[in-house]
Amino acid sequence: MSDLHHVRNLGIIAHIDAGKTTVTERILFYTGKEHRIGEVHEGAAKMDWMLEEQQRGITITAAATVIFWREHRINLIDTPGHVDFTAEVERSLRVLDGAVVVFDGVHGVEAQSETVWRQAERYRVPRLCFINKLDRAGASFDRSLASIQRRLAKRTLVLQIPIGSERGFRGVVDLVARKAFLWEDESDPHRVTEGEIPDDLRELADLQREELVDAVADLDDGVAERYLAEEEVPAEELRAAIRRLTISNRATPVLCGAALRNKGIQPLLDAVVEYLPSPLEAETPHGTHPETGKAETRPCDSGAPLSALVFKGFSDRHGELVYLRIYSGTLAEGGHVYNPRVRKGERIQQVFRMHASERERVKEAQAGDIVATVGLKYAVTGDTLCAKGDPILYEPARFPETVLSMAIEPKSSAERARLTEVLERLKRDDPTFDVHEDPETGQTIISGMGELHLEVLKNRMLRDFQVDANVGEPRVSFRQTIRGPGSGEGLFDQETANKRQFGRVRISLAPAAKPEAVEVRIEPAVALRIPKVFHAAIERALIDEARGGAGEGYPFIGISILVQGGEASETDSTELAFEVAAARALQQGVTASGRLLLEPLMRVEIRTPNEYVGEVLGDLNRRRATILGTTPEDAQSTLLVATVPLREMFGYVGTLRSLSQGRASHAMEPTGYQEVPPDLMSKLLF
Ligand code: GDP
Ligand code: MG
Repeated sequence: MSDLHHVRNLGIIAHIDAGKTTVTERILFYTGKEHRIGEVHEGAAKMDWMLEEQQRGITITAAATVIFWREHRINLIDTPGHVDFTAEVERSLRVLDGAVVVFDGVHGVEAQSETVWRQAERYRVPRLCFINKLDRAGASFDRSLASIQRRLAKRTLVLQIPIGSERGFRGVVDLVARKAFLWEDESDPHRVTEGEIPDDLRELADLQREELVDAVADLDDGVAERYLAEEEVPAEELRAAIRRLTISNRATPVLCGAALRNKGIQPLLDAVVEYLPSPLEAETPHGTHPETGKAETRPCDSGAPLSALVFKGFSDRHGELVYLRIYSGTLAEGGHVYNPRVRKGERIQQVFRMHASERERVKEAQAGDIVATVGLKYAVTGDTLCAKGDPILYEPARFPETVLSMAIEPKSSAERARLTEVLERLKRDDPTFDVHEDPETGQTIISGMGELHLEVLKNRMLRDFQVDANVGEPRVSFRQTIRGPGSGEGLFDQETANKRQFGRVRISLAPAAKPEAVEVRIEPAVALRIPKVFHAAIERALIDEARGGAGEGYPFIGISILVQGGEASETDSTELAFEVAAARALQQGVTASGRLLLEPLMRVEIRTPNEYVGEVLGDLNRRRATILGTTPEDAQSTLLVATVPLREMFGYVGTLRSLSQGRASHAMEPTGYQEVPPDLMSKLLF
């Protein structure tokens, strides 16, 4: 099974509750890993193995597992759908070669479907769409497909149509092979009958196949020739063309089913093997040489020098497990790897293939594979591991700013060291989780992506790691930016213990092009005044100072800092002197530019029965919302889209429930920052 053509690195992504976990469970069942199907609502689903997940019935930590289908090895990663855990989705996409996007057949495209779709697009991950839950009352294949075509995919290839609908949903027509698959015996999930297309669907199936061939012919010359010659396109040729179009991200196949009813999963697995790329066909990521910055790539070849990306760490009381995607070379037990970020080598103690929460120890793993290791001291999420003689640095995934914070206080001073240790550990696993000390109160503050995220972190600390601590209420994380351009100068000239230290730094400031970035550049001419050896320290000090709020308040974002000049002393300049001078220059600069307080803004999507639209809108307006759109979903319900300050959205679930008798639903995601209105400023800052 070392043939790389037969490997798939697959992720399943979706809006929360679309059915990712259920689809994953069914996949594990059909590929022979599970003999009893774990139902989400029983809290027994195999991939949702963290206690927290079982209790909430949602998937939080992406777990990797190995399965086999038709001579192929599939490394399957279950990713969470809740927006609070978007970092998990982001970092798994970074290392996947293909994804199945699951949709709820009643709702079609939902808010988070768009988010994960955009992320997949960013990493150019080829996708299959799976319209799930076709057995539900109100489900519609056509409507869901239309929403995918309208909101997400430039070009869809419809490979199946459903047989029956809602409670009568029985199977699918495979348009490529012109066959019907029926699952009619619900007591035996393995039993699928393959047969002729039912009479009443034959005409529609012919029409749909023609449309499929037409769409493929539009993009593929081989099929186009047959099409123009009015020849029948054989299934094999059609499949090969669909594969080419999917892998090159020019089109997205669409399939359907009802995972909970065990319908449509085997054809979905066939499609994964048939249409999604092997590591050899997947795009290879770009890296750079860690010392020279020169562009580097590596072939997906087990004989090449090693390169791998750490995409996830996971700590429990037994230690730290690190998940890796190997891009080139071979990772062997006992082997040495080099981590260019910390410029250190380490030894690989053990290599594992992961089966949900169980581990299978292997001697080595090759390019294209996804495995886990233990015992790495320095590796954190986003790090590259490589051969020392042939170093390469892959670009890590990018993570959004945190939006909520909460204070945490150990119950005794003896407990403080332990709290610090646990926080550090959790931080290693989760790059969207921040820890800092409030400079005024001395309290430890943790920040995260949402109420649920903080709640989960809190429980992991208090329960899994048994830290004895008091935890405050979640509060919005503010940011600062500058009002406009400005400049500043900082000097450090001091004598301590008979040693003088000297440094002077001059900077100019401007709003950054990217609203959440902190950029630092040093003008080349500065090298004439400040020796190059101090430049890295100056850069670091400016970033740290900006992140720390430049003397008061919240971290800066959206700021571009240009070091324009300064002064050094041939005998007395030190790194420390330049660090302090740089920090002072920034403080003076932001004071000159003017500070602007920012608060997190959420994009909120609400689906509500028409009769509650008025009340929901009225309530949104009281929350200082900006309504972006109200569109009819179908005859009974409306989709409202708005941006609302996060601070106005605490406990919104409950309000929406009581406004709509529990019939409206919503989803929200961070969409940047906006200026805090002046009348609220004093109130917010207590
Ligand atoms: P996830 O949040 O995307 O992982 O979604 P889950 O797999 O946890 O499913 C959410 C809910 O939808 C659960 O109650 C499932 O039982 C249910 N569900 C999943 N697939 C189907 C389906 O095909 N039909 C129906 N009727 N319900 C489903
Ligand atoms: Mg789930």
